[in-house]
Amino acid sequence: MNVPEYALTRRPRMKNIRMRIGDGGAILVSAPTRTPQRTIDEFVASRTDWIEKARGRREALPQPLEPGPEAERLRREVRAAAEPLIAYWAERMGVPVPDLSVRLMRTRWGSCNKAKLRVSLAVELGRRDPELLEYVVVHELTHLIHPNHGPGFYSTMSTYLPDWKEKRRALNRPAVPAG
Ligand SMILES: [Zn+2]
Repeated sequence: MNVPEYALTRRPRMKNIRMRIGDGGAILVSAPTRTPQRTIDEFVASRTDWIEKARGRREALPQPLEPGPEAERLRREVRAAAEPLIAYWAERMGVPVPDLSVRLMRTRWGSCNKAKLRVSLAVELGRRDPELLEYVVVHELTHLIHPNHGPGFYSTMSTYLPDWKEKRRALNRPAVPAG
């Protein structure tokens, strides 16, 4: 049995084994006090696919930012940088210019509400390379043409930003902390 390394916490009141992915991709398992070690090992070993997916999802999260003056400063910066990009790309892609909101998002870099013609961008983008902001802008504007991530979506992305895959990879690599 191939058991990935994990950190175990015993909890007397628990009924089932639970697993989550922590900082740096660590596997954190909690289990009832009496569950045999071997059962926990089997549980973890049988869920390697889940672990890989959960690690991938976690990597894709923006670096969390707390509300406060720093977040406000970044919010203004992202708005100032995004507005001309949106105007440029909307015209180039032949889509209407959407309303923009810049907010703390935590779980993603941007979102698009086609019905309300509104694009939201994560404040956290202010900490990343401006090229990555452009990638997210083009991604969200593409949703005004293709609401879902189907083949049409990716072919439109490739038309306008041929290196979008590289940018997506760069975006989902954790940012090097400033300072
Ligand atoms: Zn999308």
